[in-house]
Amino acid sequence: MAFSQFNLSSLFTQALEENNYKEPTQIQKEVIPLVLQGHDVVAKAQTGTGKTASFTLPILNDWLNNPYEGKAKLKVLVLAPTRELALQVSSNFETLSKYFKKLPKVVTIIGGEGISQQLLDVQKGCDIVVATPGRLLDIYRKNQINFEKVEKFVIDEADKMLDLGFSEELEQLLKELPKSRQNLLFSATYSPKILQIASKISQEYKEVVL
Ligand code: AMP
Repeated sequence: MAFSQFNLSSLFTQALEENNYKEPTQIQKEVIPLVLQGHDVVAKAQTGTGKTASFTLPILNDWLNNPYEGKAKLKVLVLAPTRELALQVSSNFETLSKYFKKLPKVVTIIGGEGISQQLLDVQKGCDIVVATPGRLLDIYRKNQINFEKVEKFVIDEADKMLDLGFSEELEQLLKELPKSRQNLLFSATYSPKILQIASKISQEYKEVVL
């Protein structure tokens, strides 16, 4: 199977080649079509399987298909449990959109570094935010970020998110997001708690278990 079978924009071709993405990994084969069809997805997949691009590619493709004029609106919110993972996800969005004519503005909101630059970046307008939950809530509580236009919500490494004690923050954030949105949840392991979160964020989702 080739990436061409997903009918993704040709603007990805060069970036995929440069990064040696010759064919989709198993999780990409299963998740990309579901995301493109607009389904909510809950996927059990380890790091290293290509799980990141299984959501960044279809999300970027949708972004390309829905152009807008003027200031960027936050349409995509990705939560990651750690700074490192958040930076990796942001970098994957940037790598894969490198040859777009207009680039999506990706802002990474993470703890452990100054908040002022992150506030400035958000105020300038952004399309995609990749964040750790604590710092994102800080910024939200300062009324500096608007979730009204969020259409896609991703929780990456949900199991780690719980292990690190972020369930309270997660609950808080969920209350602030628009009810109508596409939800994607990734977790390396499955537990009753993960399935509980899945049913909290989504009424009806497709399951992908690797
Ligand atoms: P992840 O599981 O998302 O952390 O990805 C693990 C690594 O595989 C990253 O370095 C990705 O850039 C790379 N990768 C993702 N998808 C593919 C693919 N289809 N072909 C080759 N490498 C890939």
